[in-house]
Amino acid sequence: MTPQHVAALPTGGTTNGSSLLDPEESPAHLPHFPPGITVPLPVDQYTAFRHSGFGPSRLHVAAILIQSPNRRQRAERFARCGCDAWVQKSDDDDPTYRVVAGACRDRFCPACQQTRGRRIAANLREQAPPGDYRFITLTLRSSEQPLGEVLTRLHDTFRTFRRTKAWQDHVSGGVCFCEATINPETRRWHPHYHIICQGTWWDKHELSAAWLAATGDSHIVDIQAVRDFDEVCSYVVKYTSKGMDPTVWRSQPALSEAIDAFEHHKMCFTFGTFRKLRLLSAPKSEASWIPVKRASDLIRDALAGDKDAYALCKRIWGRRFGRWLSETYSCVDTS
Ligand SMILES: [Zn+2]
Repeated sequence: MTPQHVAALPTGGTTNGSSLLDPEESPAHLPHFPPGITVPLPVDQYTAFRHSGFGPSRLHVAAILIQSPNRRQRAERFARCGCDAWVQKSDDDDPTYRVVAGACRDRFCPACQQTRGRRIAANLREQAPPGDYRFITLTLRSSEQPLGEVLTRLHDTFRTFRRTKAWQDHVSGGVCFCEATINPETRRWHPHYHIICQGTWWDKHELSAAWLAATGDSHIVDIQAVRDFDEVCSYVVKYTSKGMDPTVWRSQPALSEAIDAFEHHKMCFTFGTFRKLRLLSAPKSEASWIPVKRASDLIRDALAGDKDAYALCKRIWGRRFGRWLSETYSCVDTS
C-alpha cells in the first residue's frame, strides 16, 4: 500500500529541541477548556502516532501542568514524551525491532501508562506464584470530600482491613489498582480498588460485611474466581492506562484535582506475598541492539511512499499503524 495523501500534522509544531514554553510554537486549542488556554506541544510523525487514540486527554493534562510553576520540569518531560525516538534492530540471525523513546513516564500520560500496564501484565504472568486467584473490587461510598482525602481514607482503611483475621484467612497477597470516578452532576468522588489476589473462596456477603465493619459506611464489593489468569492480566493494561473515568478526563476541575491528589497516592501497589514481585522490571534481553533510523523519519518515509519503510512500520506497530494512517490521512490500507 502506498499512502495516497499526506496531510499536515494533526497538531503542534516541530521537535527541534524547542521548549514546551517556547512562544514560537503553534498552540493547540483545547476543547472543553476555558477559552484562552492553549498548549504548545512538540509534535513529529512519531509522537503524533504515539499519542493518537487518546483524544484531547493529553492536551488537557498539559494545560494543567503548564499553569503550575512547580511543575515546569514535569510539564517539559510530558510535552516531549516520545520525541527523538529511535528504531533499533537486534543483532542476530532473526532480527527483531524495538523503539527506544524518551518516555515521560507520567502517570497522566496515557501512552506511557499503557506501556507500564503491558509491563506489569507481562511480569505478573511470569512472576505470580501458582495457585487460586480471585478478583476483588472494594468501593467507598461516594463523597463530597476532596479526592485526596477520599484516597487517603481508602488507602488507610484497606491497610487496616488487610490486618483483620477475615482478610488474612482468605487472602495471602495481591496487586491493587486504584480507579477514581466522579459523578458529573453531584461532583462526588467515587474511588475504588480493583484487586487481583491469591487466596481461597470467600463468600461475597461475608466479604461485604467485613468491608462494612472496616469502613463503617460502605458495603459495595465484588469478588469473582479467576478462571483465566491471562485474561485478568490483560485487565491490568486497561486499569493502568485508564486510571480515571472519562468524566474525570473531560472535566478541567476534576482532572486538575486528580493530578494534585495522585501526586501523593499510588495508582498501583502490591501487598502480602506479592510484595517481592518486581512488576516494573524491564524485560531481559540478551541481544545487542543496532540503531536503524529515527522513528519519525521512518514514518515520514512510509508516508512518502517508501514500501520498505511502510513494511517495517507495519512489522513494528502492526495493525495500529494501519488504523492510524487511515484515520489521520484518509489512506486505505490495501496491503
Ligand atoms: Zn509519556
